Order: sequence, then structure tokens, then C-alpha cells
Amino acid sequence: MKLLPRYTDIADDFAIENTPSSVSNPQLLLWNEPLAQQFDINMAENDKVQIFSGNQALATPAVALGYSGHQFGHFSPRLGDGRAHLLGALSDDDNQLWDIQLKGSGITHFSRGGDGRCAMGPAVREYIMSEAMHALGIKTTRCLAVVSSGEQVYRQSPQPGAIVTRFASSHIRVGSFQYLAAQGDLKGLKNLADLAIERHYSEITETGAQRYLMFLQKVINSQIELVVSWMRVGFIHGVMNTDNTLISGETIDYGPCAMMNQFDFDTCYSAIDKQGRYAFGNQPNIASWNCTRLAESLMGLIDEDDERAIELLSPIINNFSTQFNKAFTSMWEKKLGLVGQHEGDHELISELLKLLNEHKLDYTNTFNSLTESLLANAKVPKVLHAWMLQWQARTNNDSYTIMRAANPCVIPRNNLIEDILLEFTQAGCSEIYKKFKLVMDKPYLFNENSAEFNHKINDALNYNTFCGT
Ligand code: AMP
Ligand code: MG
Repeated sequence: MKLLPRYTDIADDFAIENTPSSVSNPQLLLWNEPLAQQFDINMAENDKVQIFSGNQALATPAVALGYSGHQFGHFSPRLGDGRAHLLGALSDDDNQLWDIQLKGSGITHFSRGGDGRCAMGPAVREYIMSEAMHALGIKTTRCLAVVSSGEQVYRQSPQPGAIVTRFASSHIRVGSFQYLAAQGDLKGLKNLADLAIERHYSEITETGAQRYLMFLQKVINSQIELVVSWMRVGFIHGVMNTDNTLISGETIDYGPCAMMNQFDFDTCYSAIDKQGRYAFGNQPNIASWNCTRLAESLMGLIDEDDERAIELLSPIINNFSTQFNKAFTSMWEKKLGLVGQHEGDHELISELLKLLNEHKLDYTNTFNSLTESLLANAKVPKVLHAWMLQWQARTNNDSYTIMRAANPCVIPRNNLIEDILLEFTQAGCSEIYKKFKLVMDKPYLFNENSAEFNHKINDALNYNTFCGT
């Protein structure tokens, strides 16, 4: 495996050489063979264990990246990879570069007193959730492997430790720009913006200020696409801090994430999110807020006069909600198989969401049954029957295919994931996961087996997710 070094020429203190710390008894828990094949990674079992535990160093030195972050609205100028090591980058079949990063691989220059480690539960969660999101067609970082360390980590209680190997089309975050902007490093900012453009938005050919205005617009487009796709399947990220917002528009960091069961815009499972800042329905506002933080960081690249820079950046930011609402409406139209736009569609959608909320209906199962009702008798909740008459009048022969592509039959339900994580922490493997994966790999294919994973519906009140993993 020959890796390319990355990020080392952005700025001083941006990518700092750090070596993963070895662990005493590493064992392979999860290996993503399809992903390995995509990158021609063929190696003996022992090499997988040694390399992806951090025990065996590669020829390219590993680095930890610096970044800042607004966490729950409060700015920390120096966060950075406190428990992650970037090994380098690999090229896929389409010549796209992907970063390979170990997480839970020991302390770095950015650890700030943390232990640099990761508990097995959260490591397995990251693997399962990111692969489920990938199967759902949502942009996400991927996971190649989870290796148990054979060592304990101390959280609320002692837990087995693990190292997760993450692939991302880059690790450039909104917080990466904030990090350089906070240091007043204009040269570093330009280097980073140019790298981000080269890697993700190479269609941008403009020069000067226009280049970076266009970059902001592209990042906004990606964030809107991402949040709309999250909301299409009921995903709640749970910790949309600027350090967890990738410029590429991939989902990153599956800490306190959860899937919504009963439809409610206010759903928030995160135990630390007391104000509901990252609630299901607040995700668009936060994405906009995060993009505004990116815009602020780019000001120095737009104009040396702050007022002029703000004048140029503002219209792009101010257009976020109009742009989002357009994409959001289009999402509901697809979920309901509405072809073309008709008067009354808006009311039809709002009425359904009101009924879902009032009657605490399950988001996934309801849209799934509405989809299947177009082909056969499906169990659609009684309270929707009157509404359905108006909706059916708006469907046609294409509706089923459109709806089937927009509405998953199966999602990684919270309680199910908890059961799987428990099996992994107790036994190092999970029989439930083996069965679930077969269904989750094809989430839009309607089949009888998916029902087994859909009745695990828990009430929002009974489920809490935690940060600090
Ligand atoms: P996260 O909540 O994983 O997005 O991490 C937020 C910040 O805390 C990042 O800078 C992490 O590197 C850092 N961090 C989280 N857990 C640890 C840990 N166990 N040891 C050191 N740093 C950590
Ligand atoms: Mg993070």
C-alpha cells in the first residue's frame, strides 16, 4: 500500500508528524472487503491487524491535522486530531484521492489531556452507521476496518478499546479554515482553499475573489444536498459543529447520531444537546450557520477591505434558505411520487407531516407503506386514509419508481444498533449484524426480511446518545 503524503505544505502547524501508539493485543473485528477491493488493498490478515491498529508504521509518516471548531456555538481555536492519525492518501479507480485515517490510535500534539483512544462501541457504530449511510446513497466517509486493541479505555466505565480506519475524500473541515483564519495566516488559507478546490470542486476556473466566492457557493450546494438527504431518511447527526462539517459534503463523525423513528421536527436524542440545537428539524439552520462561519474565514481571500468582503459574501449566504427550501420541497415531492408541480402540493405535503406528527407515526414505515400501497394492499395507518385520496389523485405510473428510490425499506434503527454494539463489546462479533447487513446493503429493495428490522421502534424519550466517545 503506497500512500501519498498530504496537507504537509499548507502551513506550519497544520499537519504535524505524529506516530500512532502501538496496542498490546490487536484483533480484527470488522473488515470492509468491497472497499478494500476498490483500492486494490490485498494483504494478509496479520498485516491488516498490524497496520490498522497503528502497530506497524508505513513508509509515509503519519500526521495529525490542526483545526478549530465552533462546538455548540462556542469557538475553540485549537482542536485538531487529538486521537486520530492521517496515514496518507490513496487513489481509487477514478483517480479520486481518499485520505486514510486511524481513529483511536493514541495521543497527538492536539490531544489536550485526552487519552487519544476510542472505545469499541463507538468505533463499531462509526463503521456500521457510515456503511449504512453509504448504502442509503448518502455522501459519507467510509470505514475500512475496526481492530480491537486488547486494552481498556476509561469512560463512564472501563470499556474495551478499538481503532477504526476511516476513508474520506478529504479531511478538510469548516474548522480547518477557521484554524488558519484565527491565526491570520492568509497564505495558509489560500493554500487550503486551492487544495480544497483542486480536490473537490475542480470545475471552478475563476481567479481572484470570484474563485473563493464560487468555492463558498459550491460548499453551500454540497451542504444543502447533504442535509436534505439526511432528512429524507430521518438521520440526526447530533453534533453538527464546524469541526464536524466537511468541505466535500460528506457526513463525518458518527458520535451521538441517531435515526428518527416517530416523525417530529423537534426530535433530538443527544443527551448533551439540551437546547435542541442539533434537533432533526434544526439541521438546515445549523448547516447555514456553519457555512456562514466558513464565509467569515474566507473574508481575507475576498478583499482586504472587510466591508467589501462582507458585501460580496453576503448575497451567497443570504440565499441559503431559498436554495434549501427548493431542494427540500423537491425531496418531499419525490417521497410522495408527485410528478410535475401542481397547485395544492404544498398543502398536501404539510397536511401529511401534520398527521405524522399528531399521531406519532413512524417516519420510515409510513413512507414505505405509502410507496407499496401503489402496487398492492399495504398497511397504511387508518388516520391517513382520508388524506390518501387526495394524494392518490396526484400519483401516476411513474410514482412508484420515484418513491421507491426516495423511501428506504430499512434504516439502521437506534435500538438495533445498540443490540449490535453490545454483542460486539461482549463477544467481539455480532450475529444480528451479519443478518442485518444483508438487508441494509440494499435498503431500497422491498423484501420480507426487512420487516424484522423495522419493528424495533423506540420512543424518542427512551433513547439517548452520548458524545465524548
Ligand atoms: P469529536 O467529538 O470526536 O468530534 O472530537 C472533538 C475534539 O475532541 C477533536 O479535537 C478530537 O480530536 C478531540 N477528542 C475526542 N476524544 C478524544 C480523546 N479520547 N483523546 C484526545 N482527544 C479527543
Ligand atoms: Mg469530530
